[in-house]
Order: sequence, then structure tokens, then C-alpha cells
Amino acid sequence: MSEIQFATPQTVKEAVKCLAGAKGKARVLAGGTDLLVQLRAGFVRPGLIVDIKHIPELRKVKREDGGFRIGAAVSGAELGANAAVKKAWPGVVEGLELIGSTQIQGRASLGGNLCNGSPAADSVPALIAAAATCHIAGPKGTREAKVEDIVSGPGKTTLKPGEFVVSFFLPKRPKRSGDAYLRLIPRTEMDIAVVGAGVSLALDSKGVCTEARVALGAVAPKAVLVKAAGKALVGTKVDDAALEAMAAACRDACKPIDDKRGTVAYRTKVAGVLAQRAARIALARATGE
Ligand SMILES: Cc1cc2nc3c(=O)[nH]c(=O)nc-3n(C[C@H](O)[C@H](O)[C@H](O)COP(=O)(O)OP(=O)(O)OC[C@H]3O[C@@H](n4cnc5c(N)ncnc54)[C@H](O)[C@@H]3O)c2cc1C
Repeated sequence: MSEIQFATPQTVKEAVKCLAGAKGKARVLAGGTDLLVQLRAGFVRPGLIVDIKHIPELRKVKREDGGFRIGAAVSGAELGANAAVKKAWPGVVEGLELIGSTQIQGRASLGGNLCNGSPAADSVPALIAAAATCHIAGPKGTREAKVEDIVSGPGKTTLKPGEFVVSFFLPKRPKRSGDAYLRLIPRTEMDIAVVGAGVSLALDSKGVCTEARVALGAVAPKAVLVKAAGKALVGTKVDDAALEAMAAACRDACKPIDDKRGTVAYRTKVAGVLAQRAARIALARATGE
């Protein structure tokens, strides 16, 4: 079996050069909590692994345009320790912090969780609900993309050969707004979501919802932005009727698999219930309760 080459670039430019010059398939390595498992199981056999953790830009969290720029290799433990991000976007942080155990938290990154392409990835629905974008670098330069446009199906992304995610941008949090992420797993921890729901909403001074985004995980081949669910909340006071309309839109958007973790009917029902609960938490955060 041929050897796997390993590179540790120190800059984004160097990483792009390594990936572009790879003989055979190249894989980016962040925390390795997905990639190393896949390597050991023989699911992947790249010619080159490019460790992006030594690039300072990928490990930083900084303020930008009233929002936050988060390096793609920042771990769950690092983001969870950032009080400013946690205050502004608690739903995004709770999505990433739900991943694995204390050991996994020290390594698992936002970039890895997204680019691994799992439909059940816990940070992705919250990032989509937050309208987060990615800064991508590759052989043809850099580009921006919405988080919801990165994954194309289980284990697949729209990233072109040699491209990788450098950072995420979380926009400025409007006044009177809040977000939340909830998942259902069959155990209390260390399991894959049967359903995940992320909600972000904003209210005006009278408590009327002015914008809302709802995203679901584990109910389709990739995390889905349920536009109709967001629309069902806008113009309402997020009352029971609006929440039921939102839940119905969520159920309509579900195209889940049927497996040992949940049947199609169960996942579909739970999607509506979880989205409602996440919306209530986001509402409480928006009103400062
Ligand atoms: C015990 C255990 C429990 C887990 N529990 C959960 C859980 O509860 N919820 C959950 O969602 N996941 C869970 N996971 C999966 C995993 O921990 C997460 O998906 C994690 O966020 C992956 O991040 P990483 O930095 O380790 O990615 P890596 O393993 O380094 O990379 C994952 C994939 O993404 C690619 N990649 C990484 N970074 C980038 C980038 N910046 N640009 C482009 N491609 C990139 C890699 O090439 C690879 O294909 C668990 C894993 C284990 C081992």
C-alpha cells in the first residue's frame, strides 16, 4: 500500500499550494475526529493529508463588522470558552458543544463538522439558521458561500478540488433577537441526532417577529433551510398558532431515512416538536427572559 504524505502548512497560501500539487486525492485535516476514524476503517485512502491547524487564521475568533469571524479549525472547547460569541450566538455554540465528549470537544471543529457532510452534523442547522457564511480558499483564489450551499449530500460537498474552508462569518446580531439549537438522540450523550433543529429570530419593539430562519438536520440527505417555517413566524408574536404553522412547515420539509434510530413518521413528528421548542428558547433569548 502506498504511503500517505503529510503536510503542515503555516499559511493559507501554502495550504492551497500543497493541495493543488497533491499526487492523488488530498484531504484536509482539522481535528481528525471524523477523518482518522474513516482512515482507520479504510473508507478513505488519500495520497496527501494537509493539516490546517498550524495556520493561525484558522484558529482565531475575532470581531468583524459587528459580527464574528471564526477560524474553520477552532474547536468546540475553544468556541465554548468565548463569552462574546456565546452571548451573541448561543445556538451556534450549543450546536458545536453538543459534539461528542470532552476529549472530542478539544479537537472537533466547525469546518470539519460541516465538510464531513453528515446530514446529522450538530453545528450545521444552527449555522444555517444564523445565516452564517464561509470564506473559502482554493487554487483559483478565494470566494464566499452560504453554509447551506456547502454540503451536497451525505459525505459530499460543493468544494472544488483544492478548496477548503478558511473561516465562518456570523453576522451582527440584531437587537431583540435570539437563536437556539436542539437535537434528539436515543441516549443522553455521544450519539447521532435523530433530528436537529436550529432557529434564529428577531423581534421589533412590539414583540412582532421581523425575521426568522429555521433549519433542520438528520431529516434529509443534507441539513435543510426551511424557508416556509421562517415565514410562518414573521409578522406574528411567535404565539402558539404561529409555532404550529412553523412546525407543519418543518414536517412538510422532512424526507428522512427509516433506520434503527427512528422511523420516517417518528423523525417527521419530532422535527416539528423540536423546532417549536428551539423557537421558544430563541424567543426567550430575544426578549431577554
Ligand atoms: C466519539 C465521537 C463522537 C462524535 N459525536 C458527534 C456528535 O455528537 N455530533 C456531531 O455532529 N458529530 C459528532 N462526531 C463527529 C465529529 O467529531 C464532528 O463531525 C467534528 O466536528 C469533525 O471535526 P474535525 O475537526 O475533527 O474534522 P476532521 O475529522 O479533521 O475532518 C472531517 C472532514 O472534513 C474535512 N475538513 C475538515 N476541515 C475542513 C476545512 N476547513 N475545509 C474543508 N474540508 C475540511 C476533512 O477533510 C474530512 O473529510 C463524533 C465523532 C466521534 C469520534
